[in-house]
Formats: sequence, C-alpha cells, structure tokens
Amino acid sequence: MSRKPSVAVIGAGIGGVTVALNLLRAGFDVHVYEQARALREVGAGIQISPKPRASSIISGSSMNW
Ligand SMILES: Cc1cc2nc3c(=O)[nH]c(=O)nc-3n(C[C@H](O)[C@H](O)[C@H](O)COP(=O)(O)OP(=O)(O)OC[C@H]3O[C@@H](n4cnc5c(N)ncnc54)[C@H](O)[C@@H]3O)c2cc1C
Repeated sequence: MSRKPSVAVIGAGIGGVTVALNLLRAGFDVHVYEQARALREVGAGIQISPKPRASSIISGSSMNW
C-alpha cells in the first residue's frame, strides 16, 4: 500500500492556503501550521489581474472567482 507524500505548509496566509489547496488537489497529505491564535481580516481587498501567473495558479485551485 503506497502512502500519500506528506507536506507541511507553514503559515495560513493567502500564499500558504493556496499552496495547501493545490497540493491537496494533487494528492498530497497536507498539514497547515499557523502561529496566530485566530485568523483575522487584514486590509481592504485583493485585486488580481487576469494575466499574471498568480491568477492562473489561484484559479486552478478550488477557489471560485
Ligand atoms: C495592514 C496591511 C494591509 C494590507 N492590505 C492589503 C489589501 O487591502 N489588499 C492586498 O491585496 N494586500 C494587502 N496587504 C498585503 C497582504 O496582506 C499580503 O501581501 C499578503 O497577506 C501576503 O500573503 P502571504 O501568504 O505571502 O503572507 P502572510 O499573509 O503574511 O501569511 C503568512 C502567515 O504565516 C504565519 N507564520 C509566519 N511564520 C510562521 C511560523 N514560524 N509558524 C507558523 N506560522 C507562521 C503568519 O502568522 C501568517 O499568518 C496588506 C498588508 C498589511 C500589513
């Protein structure tokens, strides 16, 4: 029986959560570690232009845009 490769993601910011979602979809066993006691809202909003690679990475995840 083969085991899923296990990956630790340090930090549950937008970067860490996006990486974790995509690794989960790729079949990895993902564990996210966050130092903050609670996640809270920071800033006003997020603007993602259609062309940069970041938007294609995010749209490849399970996030709906
Ligand atoms: C006051 C403020 C307002 C902002 N407003 C906006 C805005 O309106 N729009 C916008 O697009 N961007 C805004 N930004 C920028 C935006 O917050 C960052 O660009 C974005 O959060 C970066 O994401 P990230 O996942 O790379 O890092 P972060 O969001 O910094 O996430 C990193 C996470 O890792 C955790 N971490 C760090 N070290 C460890 C460790 N050793 N163990 C466990 N966990 C760890 C941290 O607690 C954090 O939760 C703002 C930033 C600030 C400070």
